[in-house]
Amino acid sequence: MRTIEHWIGGEATPGGGHRRGDVYDPARGTPQAEVVLGTAADVDAAVASACEAYGSWSQTSLTTRVDVLFRFRGLVDQHTDELARIIASEHGKTIDDARGEVVRGREVVDFCCGIPQVLKGEFSEQVSGGVDSHSFRQPLGVCAGITPFNFPIMVPMWMHPVAIACGNTFVLKPSERVPGASELVARLYAEAGLPTGVFNVVNGDKEVVDALLDHADVDAVSFVGSTPIARYVHERASSTGKRVQALGGAKNHAVVMPDADLDFTADHLVAAGYGSAGQRCMAISAVVAVGPVGDALVDKVRERSERIVVGAGTDAGSEMGPVVTAAARERVLGYVDEGEKAGATVVVDGRDVNVKGGEDGFFVGPTLLDHVTTDMSVYTDEIFGPVLTVLRVASLDEALAVVNANPYGNGTAVFTSSGEVARTFQRDVRVGMIGVNVPIPVPMAFYSFGGWKESLFGDHHIHGPEGVRFYTRAKVVTTRWPHVREDSLAHLNFPTAH
Ligand code: NAD
Repeated sequence: MRTIEHWIGGEATPGGGHRRGDVYDPARGTPQAEVVLGTAADVDAAVASACEAYGSWSQTSLTTRVDVLFRFRGLVDQHTDELARIIASEHGKTIDDARGEVVRGREVVDFCCGIPQVLKGEFSEQVSGGVDSHSFRQPLGVCAGITPFNFPIMVPMWMHPVAIACGNTFVLKPSERVPGASELVARLYAEAGLPTGVFNVVNGDKEVVDALLDHADVDAVSFVGSTPIARYVHERASSTGKRVQALGGAKNHAVVMPDADLDFTADHLVAAGYGSAGQRCMAISAVVAVGPVGDALVDKVRERSERIVVGAGTDAGSEMGPVVTAAARERVLGYVDEGEKAGATVVVDGRDVNVKGGEDGFFVGPTLLDHVTTDMSVYTDEIFGPVLTVLRVASLDEALAVVNANPYGNGTAVFTSSGEVARTFQRDVRVGMIGVNVPIPVPMAFYSFGGWKESLFGDHHIHGPEGVRFYTRAKVVTTRWPHVREDSLAHLNFPTAH
């Protein structure tokens, strides 16, 4: 069986540890490769390599850095299909969905090709007599990225191109369930001419994460994953003085108003709830039906859910693949059982889905639960599977109260034909990313991505302008070029502008 290794100091290496993890094909339920699980010593080696590379990479001209990113962008583009195949085989999502992920990740590289525009400082002349001020931003040093299983390419690309374009060096710890794509990314960076040590990959689990969080030479940590681990990463890395952004889990609501176009809305709810088998941090999982809209909406979503073709992500014709592991499947099925016991109506039941040739795969069919209430575990917990729940409320105010009382605040959407409703919704909802008739409002790469409340710990959203601020720190310079004169203005008072 193929072994997926670390990438340290410009080459693949098994590192010093002996532990290995299975990398599954979730559609067949069998291991397809093994991944080396790193140790603290492997982290030391990767960080040492990144530290050494930082000296010259941080001094490399902006135009040279951008040249490398342009070449990397071209290579990612050329290898889109290969990357998509690796993602689909390890994660389970369909090839087309995986291709979309690669494109959205590559768009962050596109943004970074224009980074000189964003890295420009500010200048103010004559802030005092003969005195000018200017500001500029410098890289931090060695940055670490710790990423989840559900976007093996896109989520790491929210981090490393931005960090590297800003002049930092990087150590990536991908999810041990989907490590294959990062190996290819490391090779593409090398082919693009990125100097040795600027980008490193250490595979592994908690041992590697903890070693990165505690390492004295790691200056910043970007994390994306579940909320309990995000909170832990934020606390532990902050306590060692690092800059940290930790994006957590989600429970995303779609509020459907009585004036919404119901066919359009049902199409988009099905796509947003079941795409990638619901394993997206921006997936819609709670539909809040306002006023009389519930019955007709549930009917339309049911019709569409029943038509979804479930199968291996790598098979042409599949619209929805399996969930990532056997444990994930058990967890999702358990929630559906609990919801039913608590009184939810199971309108579409994905518990007994039958996939030809995938009898041992980790499949769950599209599942639709109606009459869900806010005290049920199918509502309170992030399920991260193909389960859409429908809650019924009487008014927009009540819908907003439900969304705002939820501890997560990643994404949300409103379906309406009223501009006034849309405006009220976007102003009053306490969520970071909002769609108006757009169910998965993932910001483009030139904006920044991030939730509120328990969906993000730290001060900065990720990629885009906030990503650049996260991976750099500011200096402000106050300059005077004095004439040689005898009546010096120096005195002991605090300097003011006059
Ligand atoms: P996870 O939290 O289990 O794992 C994320 C990373 O943390 C992995 O690299 C993993 O190896 C590491 N990790 C896991 N347990 C750890 C521990 N005890 N100590 C230290 N490190 C640990 O998340 P996942 O299951 O891979 O991904 C799904 C989760 O990620 C969902 O909750 C989803 O909402 C979230 N997610 C959030 C966003 C966002 O932008 N907010 C994006 C994608 C995924």
